[in-house]
Amino acid sequence: MIIFGTGSANLETIQVSNEVCNHCNKEDTIFFSYYRRHVHIFWIPIFPLRKTGRSYCSHCQQTLSPKQMPIGLKTKFKNTKDQVKGSFWQFSGTIIFILLIGLTGYTSSISKKNTTSYLKTPAVGDIYEYRLDSGYYSTMVLKRITRDSLYMALNYYEMPKQSRLYNIDKEKNYRQEIYGFSKEEIKSMKNSGTILNIKRP
Ligand SMILES: [Zn+2]
Repeated sequence: MIIFGTGSANLETIQVSNEVCNHCNKEDTIFFSYYRRHVHIFWIPIFPLRKTGRSYCSHCQQTLSPKQMPIGLKTKFKNTKDQVKGSFWQFSGTIIFILLIGLTGYTSSISKKNTTSYLKTPAVGDIYEYRLDSGYYSTMVLKRITRDSLYMALNYYEMPKQSRLYNIDKEKNYRQEIYGFSKEEIKSMKNSGTILNIKRP
């Protein structure tokens, strides 16, 4: 399966006036056809490459690349090329990509806001994602709240990546015994980056 490749889009075809075909000597039979290649991934055009084109004669069907054109025709071809506009859909992959980045940024700003507010007003059942000294990640679940402390059940398992924590965040993975942290301690764990994220199921 080809997921990465190039395609092209036809941009414009223009009739060239006052030009004689160097092959069949007919006048006003030459056309310029412009197109633009683009790189695509999964058939979505990601970004456009430079414009190019061909000349062809509607009488004898001769087709010439810019390199093969007589000098006068080549000059006309280049001058006209600058007036031909690109087609916008060849940027569609770029646009999708920008939208995705925006969406990811938006989701992560929401989750930061939630973490701050869950830290201020904790609730039993909140899941705390944290980083271990080993560089691995794990979770703990809030089991009991007192005036100045939070009691957590730790997860038996660790993951090498924070993004994989959903794999181990299961009720049966949490230890029976609970550990108390002072609210101050939890706050400083959040500030030092040990606690990364708080989720409320
Ligand atoms: Zn011709």
